[in-house]
Amino acid sequence: MISCLQEDKVKLQEELNTAESKQQCLGSTPPSQGTTDLEKHLAILVLENDRLKQELNSSQLRFQQLRASVPTCTDCEHSKENSRLREQTSVLRLELEEKTRLLSELELHLKDVHQDRTEREERLNKRIRDCHLALAKHPTPGMKFISKKMEVESLRMKQDLEEAQSRNHYLQEQIGIQRQLLTEQEQQLQGSWHTTAQLQAQIMMYEAELEQARGEMIVALQAIEDEKNQTIEEVFQHARSEMKTVHDNLNGVRMNLLSIQPALKTLTSDYNCLKNHVRDFPCLLQDAVSQTKKDIYQAVEEAKGINQDLLRKYKREMQLRKKCHNELVRLRGNIRVFCRVRPITREDGAGPDNRNVVSFDQDDDAVLCISHRGKTSLFEMDKVFQPCALQVDIFREVQALITSCIDGYNVCIFAYGQTGSGKTYTMEGLPDDPGINQRALQHLFGEVAERSTDWDLSITVSMAEIYNETLRNLLAKDPSEKLEIKLSPDGSGQLYVPGLIQIRVQSVDDINKVFELGRVNRATDFTNVNEHSSRSHALLIVSVTGINLTSGARTVGKLNLVDLAGSERVGKSGAEGPRLREAQNINKSLLALGDVICALRSKQPYIPFRNSKLTYLLQDSLSGDSKTLMMVQVSPMGKNVNETICSLKFAQRVRSVELGAAGRRAESQLCSSRQECELESPHTAIQQGRHNYPGGNNVGKSTAGKRRLVTSSEVTN
Ligand code: ADP
Ligand code: MG
Repeated sequence: MISCLQEDKVKLQEELNTAESKQQCLGSTPPSQGTTDLEKHLAILVLENDRLKQELNSSQLRFQQLRASVPTCTDCEHSKENSRLREQTSVLRLELEEKTRLLSELELHLKDVHQDRTEREERLNKRIRDCHLALAKHPTPGMKFISKKMEVESLRMKQDLEEAQSRNHYLQEQIGIQRQLLTEQEQQLQGSWHTTAQLQAQIMMYEAELEQARGEMIVALQAIEDEKNQTIEEVFQHARSEMKTVHDNLNGVRMNLLSIQPALKTLTSDYNCLKNHVRDFPCLLQDAVSQTKKDIYQAVEEAKGINQDLLRKYKREMQLRKKCHNELVRLRGNIRVFCRVRPITREDGAGPDNRNVVSFDQDDDAVLCISHRGKTSLFEMDKVFQPCALQVDIFREVQALITSCIDGYNVCIFAYGQTGSGKTYTMEGLPDDPGINQRALQHLFGEVAERSTDWDLSITVSMAEIYNETLRNLLAKDPSEKLEIKLSPDGSGQLYVPGLIQIRVQSVDDINKVFELGRVNRATDFTNVNEHSSRSHALLIVSVTGINLTSGARTVGKLNLVDLAGSERVGKSGAEGPRLREAQNINKSLLALGDVICALRSKQPYIPFRNSKLTYLLQDSLSGDSKTLMMVQVSPMGKNVNETICSLKFAQRVRSVELGAAGRRAESQLCSSRQECELESPHTAIQQGRHNYPGGNNVGKSTAGKRRLVTSSEVTN
C-alpha cells in the first residue's frame, strides 16, 4: 500500500516536474530563479517603452520649440503635412498608452497566476510531507483512505495543472501578441521619429531658405528704396528745372504778348486788306488762267513743232542707221562664208584614223589649218568658229543679217557640209540649246515688240523640203503632196509656190508647234529618218511683213534658213539605183547653189537659178540686195579629212569670187564645178592662192593655171 502511495507520489512529482519543464519550454525561467524570462523581457520592454516615451516627449518638445521659432504659415504644404504627422503621432501615442496599460494589467495577472501556482505547489508539497509523516506514524491503517484521497487530490491537481497550463499557454499567446503589437508600435514610433527628423531637416532647410529670402528681400527692398529716393530726387530736380523753364517761358510769352499787340493790330489791318483782295481774286484768277492757257497753247504748239522736227530727224537717223547697217553688211560682203568646226564627240570613237586634223590660228579667227598627209593646208573664211564655240556665239554673228530681214531685205543662211558635220545642230540645235532657227525667230519677236510703236509687223513661217528635186510642203495635211514653183500671175516676175502653207507665229510656243509639225511630216513615209534628212534640203522660210504706222509704207523681208543635204561624194563610192539618184540630185543642187552664188558675187548678167529646185525656189532671196551666209560645217576627225577639205574648198570657191566688174565674167567661167574642186589637191590650191595673192582677199588657185580666180585689184590693174 505504502509502496503504491510512494509510486503515486513519485508519479505526481514527475508530472509536476514535467509541467514545470513544459512551462520553462514555453519561455519561462525555472521558478527557482525568482523572476521568469518573460518577466525580464517585460521589464526590458517597459524600460524601452519608458525610454521611447521620453524620447517622444523630448522630440515633441523640440518640435514645438522649432515650430514656435518658425513663422507660422498655415496654408503651406509642409505645415499641412506637419499637422497630419502630429495627429498621427498623438494617435500613436494614445495607442501606445493603451498598450502599456494592457501590458501592465497582463503583468499583474501573470503575477497573480504565478503566485497562485506557487501557493498550490507549496500546498501540495506540504500535503505530501504530511502524508509522509502520516505514513511514518501510521504505517498501515487508513492507508487506503489516504491513497484514495491522494488519488482524488492528484486528479484535481492534474486538472488544476492542466488548467494552469492552458491559461499559461493563453497568456503566452497574449504576451506574443502584445509583443508583436509592441514591435509594431516601436516600428511606428521609429517611423514617426524618422519623419520627425526629416521634418526637422526640412524645417531647417526652409528656415535657411527663409533666411536667405529674407536677406535678399532686405537687399532688394534697400535697393528699391535707394532707387526710389534717387528717382524722387531726379524727378524733383527735373520738375524744378522744368518749372523754371516754364516760368521763363511764361515771362517770355508775357513779354511777347506785350510786343505782339501792336503787330496784331497791323495783322488785323492786313487781314482786312487781304479780304478785299480775295474779293477781287476770282476776276484776277480768271484773267491769269486765260493768260496761262494762251501761254500753254503756244508752248504746246512750239513743242509740236519741235516734236515733228525731232520725228523727222529721228526718221532720217533711222534711215541713216539702216543705210549704215546695210553699208556694213555690204562692206562685209553680201555673201559671207563662215566655217564651224564641230567638237569631237563620243560617237567618233578612237583609233589612228580618228585623230584631230584641224588646228587654228589663235591670232586670226578667220583662218583654219588642216594637217593631211604630212602637209598643212591653210583656209581663210570670213570667220572660223572653233569647236568650243557656243550656239549663242554663232547667233551673235548672224544676228545683224536676221535684223535686216525686218528692214525688208531677203536673207539666206545655208548650212553646208558632209553628213555628221553639225549642220542640223547649228540650224535646229537641241531643245535646251536651240540653234539659229529658233533663236532667229525669238530675235525677230523682240525686234517686232521694240518697233511696235512705229510698225505693225507680222511674222509667218513655212517649212519645206527638197528631196530628189521635189518640193514638199512640211506643214501640209498631206506632206507627200508635191509643190510647184510658179511665176506670179501679176506679171511682176516674182515667183510663188501655190499651196505652200504659211503659219503666223507670235511666241516661242507657236514656233515649237510649227517645228514639231514639220519634223513629224518630214519623218512620214521614210523608214530611216536620219538618212532621209541627210539626203534632203530642209527649208524654214520666215516672212516678215511690216506696215509703217506713220507713213503706211509696206515692207516684206524673207529669211530662208536652209539645212542642206549632206555634201559627201556618195556618187564616187559606186552607189546604184535610188541611192545613186539621190546622190546625183544632191550633187546637182549643191553645184547649182555654188554656181549661183559665184555668179551673184561676180554680178554676172545670167544667174543659173533654174539649174536646181533649191536655187529656183530661193531666186528672190539670193538676187538683188539679198544677203547670204554660207555656214560651212566640218568635222575635225582624220577619217573625214577628204570631205572636210572638199567642203572647205567649196567655201573657198564661193568666198574667193571677187566683185570686180571686169573680172566677173571671166571669173565665172573659171569657176569650176564642185566635182572639179574635189579633184584638186587642197594643199596646192590654197597655199598657192595665199602666196600669190597676199593682199587680203583670199583667192583659190587651181593647178598650173588651169583655172584661176582673179582678184578685183588684179582685174582693175
Ligand atoms: P549633220 O546635220 O551635218 O548631219 P548633226 O547636226 O546631226 O550633223 O551632228 C552630228 C552629231 O554631232 C550630232 O550628234 C550632234 O549633236 C553633234 N554635234 C554637231 N555639232 C556639234 C557642236 N557644235 N557641239 C556639240 N555637238 C555637236
Ligand atoms: Mg542633219
